[in-house]
Amino acid sequence: MYEVPRKFPTTVVGSYPKLPPASRALKLRKKGEISGEEFRRLIEEAIRDVVEDQLWAGVDIISDGEQSREDMVVYFAEIMEGYTPGEWVKIFDNVYFRKPIIIGPVEWTKPMTLEDWKTAVKYSQGRPVKGILTGPYTMLEWSFDLHYGDRYEVIMELAKALRKEIEALVEAGAKYIQVDEPALSTRPWREEAEMLGEALKVMLSGVEAKKIVHICFGRIEKILPYILDYPVDQFDFEFKNSDFRLLPYLKEYGFNKELGYGVINVHSLQVETVEEVKEAIDRIMKLDILPPEKIYVDPDCGLKRLPRDIAKMKLKNMVEAARLAREEW
Ligand SMILES: [Zn+2]
Repeated sequence: MYEVPRKFPTTVVGSYPKLPPASRALKLRKKGEISGEEFRRLIEEAIRDVVEDQLWAGVDIISDGEQSREDMVVYFAEIMEGYTPGEWVKIFDNVYFRKPIIIGPVEWTKPMTLEDWKTAVKYSQGRPVKGILTGPYTMLEWSFDLHYGDRYEVIMELAKALRKEIEALVEAGAKYIQVDEPALSTRPWREEAEMLGEALKVMLSGVEAKKIVHICFGRIEKILPYILDYPVDQFDFEFKNSDFRLLPYLKEYGFNKELGYGVINVHSLQVETVEEVKEAIDRIMKLDILPPEKIYVDPDCGLKRLPRDIAKMKLKNMVEAARLAREEW
């Protein structure tokens, strides 16, 4: 088994650029022109290459690159019971997505991420692969509910359903489980943060794996005091893209869980240099917030919007910077 470095382990948040076999598989499936077997074959080819890129860069804890997920909510809604495809909704200038509709009790009926996770494990040469799923808050926020009529009830039912996915991953051997909650920071209020905390208890209590919550962008400092007692081992936040604005707040609130420390800008084509990433690591160390054992070095968010060669280089420089930091701290 691969030994993850004790200090400044490196990891990824999850998504990776869609590689050609995966794009092809998804396109053909949309048109109904592909068999289940052929779809799996193409996805496996893509995941193998994603894993190889991460191994080449030297990342310690890797992912399957979410190659079969076109969208982080729709993907799960299409497999879970209780959902029906919805209308197209505009989320950014030119980005539309189909907001799924809850029309009945949400239920987990079969594993949704397990097969891709297993495929990544097959090629990972013993490096741990994170099990990654979209959290109940984001599933709630980015769907329409026509069945429950009560947000608290929806989120708790989603949490129960998603817990089964986590159990399937852990049963198969996943040692790291990450719940992605990009939607939380779009409503950075105490009640919202506390509601997710309750849902996470349902989802994660007693789960024997390292438990991580990833929250992207937004004003995390506003909710920080209300999320610190979440039943997780690690919070993963972006820092690079907001010029490390959150660091003093971590200090102020006595943050003492593990931290996924985002040091790579996933919206910029410019590859961070080794020195630049090393400086970012020095910066948090000088503030004396956490020991190096609790700092996981990773990109701000998923890498899916970058060209593959840039994503690869960014990871490689990040890994090299973490290696240098280990010698120093
Ligand atoms: Zn993110």
